[in-house]
Amino acid sequence: MTIILPFPDGVTAYLSIISNWYWTTQHSCPCCKGKTHRNGNYERNVYSRDECYVIPIFRLYYPSCKTSFSFIPSFIKPYARFLNAYRFDLLQHHVVEEVSIRQTPSRSSTKHSVSTCTFRRWLKQFKSIAPKISKHLAARLLELRPGLSVPKGLSDVAFVLNAGQVLKLIVQSLLPEEPLHNYGVFDMLNILLPDNLLV
Ligand SMILES: [Zn+2]
Repeated sequence: MTIILPFPDGVTAYLSIISNWYWTTQHSCPCCKGKTHRNGNYERNVYSRDECYVIPIFRLYYPSCKTSFSFIPSFIKPYARFLNAYRFDLLQHHVVEEVSIRQTPSRSSTKHSVSTCTFRRWLKQFKSIAPKISKHLAARLLELRPGLSVPKGLSDVAFVLNAGQVLKLIVQSLLPEEPLHNYGVFDMLNILLPDNLLV
């Protein structure tokens, strides 16, 4: 199973501090608060627009629940290869700026471009969960800002992209002392959303 680890400062900062954080932090089981065993790490390749990073993913094992968990930093979705920020940009180009599906992946010249086929898959996945995320987001926005006029008449995918940005601004204004400016919209949504609705 995975635990999304809120991590606002990007991949380079992650690489420099994560090992120390893992080995010096006292962890406990999210289910029963029981003891844990550190279980080392495995490596994953993740891609931004221009860089490929090899990042360690750290694991814990909880003997009382017989479960192991991986800490997935919030800039990447579990099992995804491309950083959230990159996927967000491409979805934004297509949904908001109405660039065609075929044009979107190749729109900006990048070192790690995605195929049209991959982009179609992202879009399909995003469309399938967008209605539920919209409901979550609308509720969350109204909870934080009662009386806020939530955008109407948008498709669910456009609503999620738009409301996600509004939510990010609101959360930033509520927690000015937190270094939240580095969280991307999808990073923040994945910290807030339930596991089955990760974007
Ligand atoms: Zn447990």
